[in-house]
Amino acid sequence: MTSGRRTPEGNRIVGGVPNSAHLSGSAVDYDGPDLPALLAEARKLPGVRKAFIHKGHVHTEGDGWNVPYYGRNGTKGLKR
Ligand SMILES: [Zn+2]
Repeated sequence: MTSGRRTPEGNRIVGGVPNSAHLSGSAVDYDGPDLPALLAEARKLPGVRKAFIHKGHVHTEGDGWNVPYYGRNGTKGLKR
């Protein structure tokens, strides 16, 4: 897992689209040496709605997902 929920600031920094599902915590990115194999596994995730290869990673979105803030810049500007 390389990216989960993101703050708006973190999403901007990583170049996420403004209405990214990462903002609402319903998207997770995965990275690995074999993206097609990863994609095949990602499509089996419970509740998965979308899974596709994008910019060198597998992007997934699911219904009812509520993933934690995660990722290199995902927590940027987060108030704790
Ligand atoms: Zn993504």
